[in-house]
Amino acid sequence: MKLIIASNNSHKIGEIKKILSGKFESIISLQEAGICHETVEDGETFMENALKKAREIAEISGECALADDSGICVDALGGAPGVYSARYSGEHGDDEKNNALLLKNLEDKSDRSAHYTAAVALVYPDGREICAEGYMYGKIIHAPRGNGGFGYDPLFVMDGEERTVAEMSAEEKNECSHRSNALNLLLSKL
Ligand code: IMP
Repeated sequence: MKLIIASNNSHKIGEIKKILSGKFESIISLQEAGICHETVEDGETFMENALKKAREIAEISGECALADDSGICVDALGGAPGVYSARYSGEHGDDEKNNALLLKNLEDKSDRSAHYTAAVALVYPDGREICAEGYMYGKIIHAPRGNGGFGYDPLFVMDGEERTVAEMSAEEKNECSHRSNALNLLLSKL
């Protein structure tokens, strides 16, 4: 099966390609497929957004499309930033500003527990849909550490670890991340 990843986020695309390596005939990004498209992510849940992205790309391309919608949910903030993770500070994809705002909003909170969620949706051109969700639990530390990963990784330490996700290798992250948990569950449903 050929797969188009319905995302313009190069970090996500890189991780998805590594996690799914060898599982499909070919896996290409939107850019590699020559598709210039940005889905309006107006869903209230990660899964609504993932399905919307995958459905649009399956329809435009006539190929199987896989989308990931993900983010970080912080307990003391009632689950925020959640589906708004990419634009928490107002500007889409500004990791530094998003991280600074998250630290500011947690200044007076003692409960730092949080989890990443990834919703993944695979949509076939004939309309069949397969979905799965994965999680990674941990806490938000007080200052960023590490240069790996992306997004909130320099602030997130998973349960049972001392290092932030940004201090782990890409392979280590891909063994236990919300994204790999979701994709492995999806593979088991194929
Ligand atoms: P989306 O592209 O709308 O799914 O937004 C994803 C956003 O959630 C990213 O821009 C990051 O801020 C955050 N996020 C999702 N997955 C990760 C991850 O693996 N590490 C760090 N941040 C992540």
